[in-house]
Amino acid sequence: MTRKPLTTLHGVGAALAGKLARLGLDNTFDLLFHLPSRFEDRTHVTPVYQLRHGQPALILGTIEGCQVQFGRRRSLLVGINDAGAFFTMRLFYFNAQQQRALQNGQWIQCFGEARQGAKGLEMVHPEYRVYAEEPKNITSDALTPVYPVTEGVTHARIRKLILAVLDSELAQVKELLPPVILQKYQFMPLADALRILHTPGADDDLAALASHRHPAQQRLAMEELLAHHLALRKLKLQRAELAAPRISITGSSWSRLKFSLAFELTGAQLRAIAEIEQDFTLLRPALRLIQGDVGCGKTLVAAAAALHAADSGYQVAIMAPTELLADQHRRNFESWCKPLGITVGWLTSRLPAAEKRAARAAIESGEVQIAIGTHALFQQSVCFARLGLIIVDEQHRFGVDQRLALKNKGRTDTQAPHQLIMSATPIPRSLSMVYYADLDVSNIDELPPGRKPVNTVVLPNTRREEVQERIRAACALGRQAYWVCPLIEESEVLQAQAATETAALLSAILGEIKVALIHGKMKPAEKDRLMQAFRKNEIDLLVATTVIEVGVDVPNASLMIIENAERLGLAQLHQLRGRVGRGEAQAVCVLMYQAPLGKTSRRRLDILRQTNDGFEIARHDLESRGPGELMGTRQTGDQQLKVANIVRDQALLPLVEQAAGELMNHHAENVGLIIDRWVKHKAHYAEV
Ligand code: ADP
Ligand code: MG
Repeated sequence: MTRKPLTTLHGVGAALAGKLARLGLDNTFDLLFHLPSRFEDRTHVTPVYQLRHGQPALILGTIEGCQVQFGRRRSLLVGINDAGAFFTMRLFYFNAQQQRALQNGQWIQCFGEARQGAKGLEMVHPEYRVYAEEPKNITSDALTPVYPVTEGVTHARIRKLILAVLDSELAQVKELLPPVILQKYQFMPLADALRILHTPGADDDLAALASHRHPAQQRLAMEELLAHHLALRKLKLQRAELAAPRISITGSSWSRLKFSLAFELTGAQLRAIAEIEQDFTLLRPALRLIQGDVGCGKTLVAAAAALHAADSGYQVAIMAPTELLADQHRRNFESWCKPLGITVGWLTSRLPAAEKRAARAAIESGEVQIAIGTHALFQQSVCFARLGLIIVDEQHRFGVDQRLALKNKGRTDTQAPHQLIMSATPIPRSLSMVYYADLDVSNIDELPPGRKPVNTVVLPNTRREEVQERIRAACALGRQAYWVCPLIEESEVLQAQAATETAALLSAILGEIKVALIHGKMKPAEKDRLMQAFRKNEIDLLVATTVIEVGVDVPNASLMIIENAERLGLAQLHQLRGRVGRGEAQAVCVLMYQAPLGKTSRRRLDILRQTNDGFEIARHDLESRGPGELMGTRQTGDQQLKVANIVRDQALLPLVEQAAGELMNHHAENVGLIIDRWVKHKAHYAEV
C-alpha cells in the first residue's frame, strides 16, 4: 500500500496540509477514510406547498419583499413565492451588500431545513443563490455527502480532494477482511463501500444512509469495530510476554483471615479468588476485572489477592477514587492485617506534607506492605520498593491521565505488576469486546445470603411530605436514612450549595430527627467525623451529594431518597441504591422526580423499580445513554469510533469476534494493517 503525504496532491501546500492534519488527515489514505457525517438530497426541487416542518429541502422561487425585522434579535426576512405558495428565508447575519442583492423579482434557490416560524414556514440561514433569470439544472444527479470540516478548509475543498484520491488511490486500498467473513455475511468489498459513501448514486437508499444502516456503512463499521477489538487482543498478547512478580498462593495469611470471618464466602467470591490465584500461577502479569453488584463482597476478594502478594514479599497498592472510599478500605485492611502482622500504609493528596513524606518513605523502604490511598499513590514521587500487585477500585471513575500513571507504576520494559480492577458498574459484553478485550473478567453474580432486594418507589417531587413521613417512621424504629441531592451540574460547588439548603430545610421540618450534611467540598477531617458519627448511629438522616455513591457501607441505613432522579444515569442510581439493603431491615429506595416526566425517563426509572440486577441495568444504560456513562467518559464523549456506534451496531459484534479469531489464526499478517487503518490514537488502549 502506498500512502502519500497530502502535499503530493495538486494544490495542497504545507499550510493546507497543516489544517487538514487537524482533522486527523495526514496522507491520501486518510482522505479515503474521511467519511461523510451525513448526506443531503438535492436530487429534486420540493414545491413549497409540499414543504413540511423539519424537512431538509431544495426550493426555488422568486423574491417578494425583503425587510429587516427588529425584535429581540435583528433579522433579515426575505419573502419567497413559489407558484403562489409563500415561504420565508431568515438571516440573522447579513450585510448591506447581501441585502441589496435580494431584489424583488429575482429568482432564488435555497437549501436547508424548513421550520415552522411565527408566520408560516421558514428556513434560517439556508444555503442560497440568487439568479436574474429562472435557473436551469439546479438539482444534482445524486445525494451530496457532507464531510466534517475544520476552520480554514471549505467543504468544497475537502470534497474535491477526496474525489481526486478516490480516482487515483481507491484501487490500491487493500481488502483486509478474510474472504470467509466477507462471503458468509455477504459484506461488500471495501472499495465498493468507500465508493458508495463518497459518491452515492441517485438510487442509493438515502433513508438507510441517513440512519447509518446502509450495507456500505455496515461494512466499514464492521472493520472498525474489528480493528479496535484486535488492538486490544494484541495488547493482551504483548502483556503476556512480560515477566510478572511470582506470587505464591500457599501463604497462610489469607486462610487465617478467611477462618476468622463471621460468615462464609459466597460461591461467586470463591470462584473469583480461584481465578486470581490461577492468574498468579501463570507467571505473567494478570489484568483482571472483578465486576459485581454493590455489596457482593469485592473487598474480600481483593484482600485474598493482597495477602497472597504480601506473604510473597511484594507490596500491594490499593487505589480508590474518593477519600471516603479509600478510608473505608483502610479501616477494613487495618483490622484484617493487624492480627496478621502485615503493615498497612495510607497516602492521599490531602495529608499534611510531613505525613505525606513519611508515608512515601515507608513505601519506598518497603516497610509498608499494603499501601492504600487515592490517586496520590500513583504520583511520580511515590516509588515502591517491590510493587507486585495493583488493585484499583471503581476504575471507571478515574481520569485518563490517572490511568496512564497507574499503568506505568512498577513497570519496566520486561516486567509489570499484576493488576486487579474492581467495578460495581458491570460492563455489558458488547462494550467490553470493543473497549476492554484485553482484560480477563470475573463476575461475582451472587450476593451474600439473607440480603433482601431493595424496594424501589418512584414519586414526583410534589409528594415530598410523604417522603418526609417515611423518614420519620424509619428513624422512629432506630433506622437511618440517606437523602441524595440533585446533580445540578457537574460542579461540586453548586451541588454543595443545593445539599446545604436541603439539609437546612429538612432539619427544620423534621425537628426531632438529627440531620447532617456531607459533600465533596468539606474538609476531609470533617467528612471523616460525620461518616463515623453516621456509622455509630449518632446521625439519623445524612443529606449528601453523590460523594456517597461508591462503596460506603452502613448496614443500619435502610432508606435511600434520591431527588431529581431523572437526571442521573441508571447505573449511578443503582449504585446509590446499593448503599441500603445491607442490614436486616427491608430497605426502601425512593426515586423522586421533577414532573412532568417524559416517556423515556419514565421507562428508565421503571427499570430500576423492576430489577435489582446490575447487569440488566447497565445494559439499559448503554442503550439509552451510550457508552460514556458506563465508561466514565461523559465529558470526552465516545470519540474513538468514526463510523461504528456500539449501540446501533451491536448486531455486528458476534461477527467481530468470529472475524478476529479467523484473522489471528489464518491471516495474521492483516491484523496489524487493520489496526493501523482504524486506530489512530492508541494511547487509549494503554489506559488499563
Ligand atoms: P462491594 O462488592 O460493594 O465492594 P463490600 O466488599 O464492601 O462490597 O462488602 C459489603 C459488605 O458485605 C461488607 O460489610 C462485607 O463485610 C460483607 N460481606 C462480604 N462478603 C460477605 C459474605 N460472603 N457473607 C456475608 N457478608 C459479606
Ligand atoms: Mg467496594
